[in-house]
Amino acid sequence: MTKFSCIKCSYRFELKRELPPKVCPYCGKEGGVRREQGAEEILRDVDNSRE
Ligand SMILES: [Zn+2]
Repeated sequence: MTKFSCIKCSYRFELKRELPPKVCPYCGKEGGVRREQGAEEILRDVDNSRE
């Protein structure tokens, strides 16, 4: 599960996918949904970008 949050309404939710949906399921804001990243996930992404 990947955690997402909306930059407009701060609605937080989880989905079984990596990419965020185009619109927020709560307020309908287009392009407002971002992945939530903890410290471990950020480190993992840095490692992946080196490959
Ligand atoms: Zn929203």
